[in-house]
Order: sequence, then structure tokens, then C-alpha cells
Amino acid sequence: MNKYLESVLAGVKEKYAYQKEFVQTVEEVLTSLEPVINAHPEYEQADLLNRMVEPERMFTFRVNWCDDNGKWHTNRGWRCQFNGAIGPYKGGLRFQKNVYEGIIKFLGFEQTFKNSLTGLPIGGAKGGSDFDPAGKSDAEVMRFCQSFMTALYRYIGPDIDVPAGDMGVGGREIGYLFGQYRRLKGTFENGVLTGKGMSYGGSLIRPEATGYGAVYYLQEVLKHENDDIKGKRIAISGYGNVGWGIMKKAMQLGAKVTYFAGPDGYIHDPDGVNTEEKLNYILEMREKDPMHCKPYADKYGVEFVPGEKCWGVKDVDIYMPAAVQNDVTMKEAEKIAASGVKYYIEVANMPTTNDALNFLRSKGDIIVAPSKAVNAGGVGVSALEMSQNSERLSWTAEEVDEKLHSMMKNIHANSAAAAEKYGLGYDLVAGANIAGFEKVADAMMAQGIF
Ligand code: GLU
Repeated sequence: MNKYLESVLAGVKEKYAYQKEFVQTVEEVLTSLEPVINAHPEYEQADLLNRMVEPERMFTFRVNWCDDNGKWHTNRGWRCQFNGAIGPYKGGLRFQKNVYEGIIKFLGFEQTFKNSLTGLPIGGAKGGSDFDPAGKSDAEVMRFCQSFMTALYRYIGPDIDVPAGDMGVGGREIGYLFGQYRRLKGTFENGVLTGKGMSYGGSLIRPEATGYGAVYYLQEVLKHENDDIKGKRIAISGYGNVGWGIMKKAMQLGAKVTYFAGPDGYIHDPDGVNTEEKLNYILEMREKDPMHCKPYADKYGVEFVPGEKCWGVKDVDIYMPAAVQNDVTMKEAEKIAASGVKYYIEVANMPTTNDALNFLRSKGDIIVAPSKAVNAGGVGVSALEMSQNSERLSWTAEEVDEKLHSMMKNIHANSAAAAEKYGLGYDLVAGANIAGFEKVADAMMAQGIF
């Protein structure tokens, strides 16, 4: 490996050994940048890579909140403003029990390249808390969000840093966070957060954007292979906001999600999630209890396999992991390779461990697409929400959807072109890393060293 790359990676591994998800994503990205670094000796001179793997700013804060029984709790909150070279910091907030610095930094690093790929002027950031929203009442969530924003508000703003949702943070949480920001600032700056409700500056298509974008990207891959989405059967993990968007767009385009998995096991519906009624039921089921998808099988009389994931099933054409990081390890990757499926399209942030990803990439007969490109439509429409807020206008659903569609086409085309430029063939993983990197690198080099 290039000596400079090797030394940067070794430094990250040594300094941040305990942040294993962060080390994982840095290794994944850096190893695919080798041809670019070889072609640009000036990057080493300017120590560009060591600057890129270190967040510009990151802070931790205490969040206290009172439960419905009058008992007080203390959680930790973070915001990592990873890279602001191409635009205001932008990225979601994750509220989940297992959140710590390693997860926030992995997401912030990924976000930097993902946001660059959208072609829009947004830097990379991420934040969150180890607060566990499961089983909390609305009032508890409200008090938590108010306290969280009280600690965060002075460090964000429409031109500074624009948080949004991620796991555990949806429309309800964004509403409470925005309300507290407005109360503290005394100004109506709705561009400070995205994923807002429609009554106070949200964008049409934002809830669907990640899933729709993933399917638009998939269409480009299929087109490249002279294949068509019509009639395709898709297996996904997760049936959250993103999974739901995939199901909906797949249905509109004549494909169908025939398998989906939740924390309790997986569903096999041979007809697919093919009606509005089924889609609405999934929303309802998730709202009642996000840990169990079995009720779907009971309601529609289809198969439910408890405690298992759907990787390895043979009667599908496409796999789309859309649940959580490191969902697919070597064990699952081997099953996927043996299943004969041709398309492995990552959707969740870093759903595949590095060894599993490299294994799947090394199989010549599976096309692997990386999440930082495939799921970029979510943050892409967030950036469109920011544009609408700046204009004080709102665009029609058709307008947003059309922009999302062309954004996803460009991301696919630019990734493929970047890989091609360095003689890597149709390598969408390396291509996305290179295309995302090049724009940020160029902006950092132009702005001087700091
Ligand atoms: N959390 C989402 C992501 O991983 C969306 C971030 C945003 O909209 O700012 O890209």
C-alpha cells in the first residue's frame, strides 16, 4: 500500500482503537483511494489525509431529563462537525442506547463523502445521544429533546450546521427540537433542521427520499447491466423509514419486496408488499412496536421465520440491507454469495463488515453498490429542503422527486466514471469513495491549511 496512506491508517488504528466503527470506515475509504493518492503527491505534502480523518470539531454534552414518574436521568449527547469544506455541516442525529464516539464519528466520516456525492453544497456532520427512545412517552421524548437542544442550539444554524433525523429521530423528535431552537433563539430560522413537518418548512418527499433514492440508484445499476426493474424480487432487512420507501417505490415501478426482516425474524410474502394497504399497515405496526414484524405475517397469512435474517434465500434477484451497521458479516456474505443473487445494494450506513464487503466485491458475479452512494438521496432531499427554506417557498412533490431522481442518476454516473478514470472498471464502491473524496480534497486544498 502507498506509504502515506499506510501511515495515516496506522495512526487512526492506534489513536482510536476503541472507536471500532470509525476505524472500520476509515480503512474502507482509505484503501480505495490508493490510485488517487499515488496520482497526487501534493496531498501528502499538505498532509491532506490526516486532516480529513480528524473532525474539524466535536463536542460532548450532558442531557438531563425527567421521566413521567418525576425521576431524573442523565444521558450523553454529541455533535461531530466532521468537515465543512464544501458547505455548512450537515447530517442526522441518532438516538440509540449503543451510541458513543465511535458510532458518531463513523457516521460523520461517511456523511462527508456521501454529502459530497450529492453534488450539493453540504459538509459532513453527525450527532446523537445514548438516550433510548424505546418505550418512552411523548412527554418524556419532548423533555429529552428540549434539553438536548438547549445544549446544542448555540453551535448550529442554517449556515453553520444543520442536523436532521437518523435512527430514533423522526418527525416527532425534529418537531420538538425545532420548537426548542425557535424558543431559545427567538427567530424563525427553519433552515436549521431538516426532516421537518410540512406546516413549518418541511419538504415533500423527504420521508420517502432515502428509499426512493435507493431504488433510483438500483435502476441505474440495472440499466448498466441491460437489465430492468420490472418483475424484480427484492429482499431487504429493516422495515423502518428507509425500507418502507424502498417498498413503495419498488411497487410503483413494477418490482416487489418479497422478503423483509426485523429484529424478531423475517417475513416472506411471495406477492410482495404490493398494496397501499400493506404499506400503511407496516407504518402502523412499526409505530405500535418497532421490535416485531411478525404481526404482518399473522395479518396476511404469510410465512414468518423467527430469529433469522433473510440472507441466503434464493427466490429473489436483489438484496438490499437497510437496517443497521454491520448487519452482514462473513457468515451472511457467504450465504449471499451461495444464493446466486446478482445484485447486492447496500442501503443502511455501513451495513457490511469490511471482510464481508471485500469478499462480495471479489466475487466477479455479484454487483456491489455502496451505501454512501445508494442512500445519499435522503440527505440530498434534506439539502433541497434547505434550499426551499432559504427561498421561503415550497416545491411540489413532482419537482422534488424529479430533482432526487436526477441526483441519483448523477451519483451513479459520477461513481462509475471515477472508477473508470483510475482503471478500476465498474467498481461502484471505489468509485463512490473516489468521487466523494475528490470534491472535498479539492476544496480543502484550495482553502489553505488549517
Ligand atoms: N441520517 C441520514 C443519513 O444518514 C440523513 C441526514 C440528513 O438528512 O441530514 O444520511
